[in-house]
Amino acid sequence: MSASAAPPATDACPLCETAVTSADERCPACGADLVGLASGPAFSQPLFWWTAMGFVLVYLVTLAVVAATR
Ligand SMILES: [Zn+2]
Repeated sequence: MSASAAPPATDACPLCETAVTSADERCPACGADLVGLASGPAFSQPLFWWTAMGFVLVYLVTLAVVAATR
């Protein structure tokens, strides 16, 4: 969170709501294609959620293994 010397935010990422500028072609936080979102279907959003679901799945499997071996 930088309060000073930050470029003026003119938009927000539709995926993670990080402040982005109109000059940004991709979100610096999640890498969403901001240009593609404006003109076509969002391919980054399903990918983002599948990645998140993958992490959750690994987390749950790890919990299951720990619970089973305890
Ligand atoms: Zn983003």
